[in-house]
Formats: sequence, C-alpha cells, structure tokens
Amino acid sequence: MLTQFWLRLYRQLALVFASAALLGWMIDQLTLALLLAALGGLAWQLWQLYRLDRWLSGDPDASPPKTHSIWAGIAAHVTRLRRQSRKRKRKLSRLLQQFQQATAALPDAAVVLGEDDKVVWCNSASQSLLGLTSGRDLGLPITHLLRHPGFVAFLNHRRNGDSVEFPSPVDGPLLLSARIVPYGKKQRLLIATDISRVRRLEQMRRDFVANVSHELRTPLTVITGYLETLLDNDDAALETWRQPLHCMQQQSRRMLHILEDLLMLARLESPKEQSPRWPVAVPELLTDIAEDALALSGERNHQIDISADPQLWILGCEKELHSAFSNLVFNAVRYTPAEGRIGIRWFTDTDGIHLEVADNGEGIAPQHLPRLTERFYRVNRDRSRGSGGTGLGLSIVKHVVNHHGGQLRIASELGVGSVFTCDFPLELRTSSIAAPPHNGNSRR
Ligand code: ADP
Repeated sequence: MLTQFWLRLYRQLALVFASAALLGWMIDQLTLALLLAALGGLAWQLWQLYRLDRWLSGDPDASPPKTHSIWAGIAAHVTRLRRQSRKRKRKLSRLLQQFQQATAALPDAAVVLGEDDKVVWCNSASQSLLGLTSGRDLGLPITHLLRHPGFVAFLNHRRNGDSVEFPSPVDGPLLLSARIVPYGKKQRLLIATDISRVRRLEQMRRDFVANVSHELRTPLTVITGYLETLLDNDDAALETWRQPLHCMQQQSRRMLHILEDLLMLARLESPKEQSPRWPVAVPELLTDIAEDALALSGERNHQIDISADPQLWILGCEKELHSAFSNLVFNAVRYTPAEGRIGIRWFTDTDGIHLEVADNGEGIAPQHLPRLTERFYRVNRDRSRGSGGTGLGLSIVKHVVNHHGGQLRIASELGVGSVFTCDFPLELRTSSIAAPPHNGNSRR
C-alpha cells in the first residue's frame, strides 16, 4: 500500500524538478530554479508533516492529510493501528470484566498484595469474610486491616505451603484459613477460606467417638468383671464353659483397651483439654516401662537396653508421656522376633530432647511409613490383632508428642529393624527441684 504512495512521491518529485530544470534552462537560471523547486517541495512536505502531527495529537480542528500523498498513507496506517488497538482494548476489558465477575462469585476472599503488603485489589467476598472494602482500603498495608497476631506472624515468617487459621474480624464465630501465593513481580495473592463448617464437622466426629466410647465403657467393664468372677469360680458345672468364657474375657478386654485408646485420642484432640504440665522424671518412667516390656516379652526373651540421662526431666503430662513411650516400647517387643534387641535412648543435643526406641525386628516397608500414624492403620491386620494391638498406638504417640510441641520421626527397613524418635523442644527441659504435688501426674 505504502509503496504506491512512494512511487507517486518519486513521480511528483521528478516532475517538479524536471519542470524547474526546463524553466531554469529557458531563462538561463538553472541553479536558482532547482533551488526554488527544492525549497517549495520541502515547505509542502513540512506542511503535510505539521498537519499529520496535529491530527495525531488529537487536535479537534485538524483533519488527516487527504491527498494521495505519502502522508495520507501514513495517516491510513496509523488509523488502522488505532482501530486494532481499540479492538484489543475492548477484548481485554471484556476479559477483565469476566475475570472480575468470576472472582466476585468466588466464595473465598481473594486479595492482591503489592509492595510492602499493600492491598492492590480485593474481591467482594473479602468484604464479608475479612471486612475489606475495595474503595476504602486499597493502598493500605494488609496488617493495618487484619491485626490478628497469628495472621501477622504468618505474613512475616511464612514458609511455602503454610496456612494460618484465625477468626474472621467481621463475624466472630467464623473461622478462616488463609494462604499466600506469590506471583509476578513482588506480588502476592492472599486467599482466605471459611473453614467453620469443616471444623464443626470434625468436632462432631470427635464428640461422637468420645460419647460412644464413654457410653460403651461402663457396660463393657461390667461384662468383663462378671466374666472374671465366673472364671475365678471353681464350680465344676462351669468347667465346660471355661474355654468360651476365657475367649469372651479376652475379647472384652481388647474392646475395653480400644475404648480407652479412643477416649485418650479424643482428649488429646480436644483443644479445650489442656493437660497440666509438671516436671516428669522420664528416666524412671522408662525403667518402669522397660520392666513391663520384659513381662510382655516373657519367654521370647528380648534384650532391652536403656541409656537415659538421669538429670534429663521434661515439663509435660506424665500420663500422656507414659502412654506414648510405652506404646513405642511395647510395639518394639511385639514386632521383634524372640531374642531380638531393643534399645531405648533418652538424651539431649542442640536440636532438642529425644526419645529413641530402636529394634532389630521385622521392619516396615517404605510404602506404609507415611500412613502409619493414621487411626487403625496396620501393616498386617491379623498380626496386629493377634499380638493385642488396637491400631491406635502410633496415632496416640503422634498426638502426645505434638501436644508437647514436638514431632515423631519413623525410620525403618524391612528385615533390618525400626527406629522411632520423639523430638521435644529444648524449652521443655527442667530439673527435679520444681516437682509438683503428685496428684496431677498419676501413672496409668
Ligand atoms: P497396633 O496396635 O496395630 O500395633 P500401632 O498404631 O501401634 O497399632 O502401629 C501401627 C502399625 O505399625 C502396626 O500394625 C505395625 O504393623 C507397625 N509397627 C509399629 N511399630 C512397629 C515396629 N517397632 N516394628 C515393625 N512394625 C511396627
């Protein structure tokens, strides 16, 4: 298109200069005529450029160069580009509108945070969940608007994949879970979801299990008691029933054991139930557990070694710690063949305070390790039942350790053995001097 205009321009210039040259030759002023023709051509081109500039800068009185000049070609080109850009703009604004409608329909609050965590944009759910208003709060740091200490700490010391739970500043009973996703240049997207319903359902499930366990415990205790009385009776008439009665007693004891474990888990999971913390003499606790473990081992004759720092006591709940540690040691006895070795270590280092229970037993295949602390998860169901397991032991251990601010680590190799380690924070370390009145700390 433009080449046509260029050809026309060359033709016009050639015509003008040829006419000027002819005229100059006729009046014998060739140089002057060519100079005047060049000046005239330049003035005309400048005039066209001036008109184009006025038109491009949006002067309402200016019109685009209309002649079939190169300037008209450029003007047409610009018009086409402008039309394309307007079309693209319309498409983008339609897309933006659709995006805004979609985010407005989101049930979760979405807030774009810019530099220094200032609010750049927020959707309508942020108003009902976080109390943010698009017009009023844009440009303000999010920590001026959401002041919950847990949220502020999360924003400052966040690790990837973390989330924080906090009550909605607008609607007290509403519980929110917030996550932050970094994107673009120094921008972050804050997403807050209402998790009140999930938490309510979890609480209902916990209450249900706790209530059922509680209700079943009394009748079962009565049945177990009567079975014991019957088995203690030497009456000859009972002789034929002795075997079935023995079996019934075993099963009812197992059920009682499961109920006790379920009740313990319900207590550990309840945010309301914070057990009192007192100095616990863990070395003595481990000696008692090792004695019970030897009794459990019986003729299988396991070798149990304890290495415990006698000065190392921790602040905690003795009943919970006893339950967790005995679960680990009894598991080691149950899943280690006769004559096997079990090592119990209680020590501290710069990372924290640790209880390690290691055995050279059957070990656990790697695919089971991530699920081992789930309730009722067993590698071999029949084997676990046969050895008196409830399938709740490691779940209790994990909860107890978490309750004390620590974590449970499991390392195991099939056919080689397992190492279960409970890591506690160093702040829990204490000495025997601060020992309490004993009633808050009775052992099971
Ligand atoms: P259970 O009552 O079945 O022992 P736990 O929660 O205590 O339930 O343990 C879950 C499963 O983990 C067990 O069924 C067993 O397969 C495996 N396990 C636990 N401790 C050991 C261990 N020391 N050696 C091998 N397997 C173990």
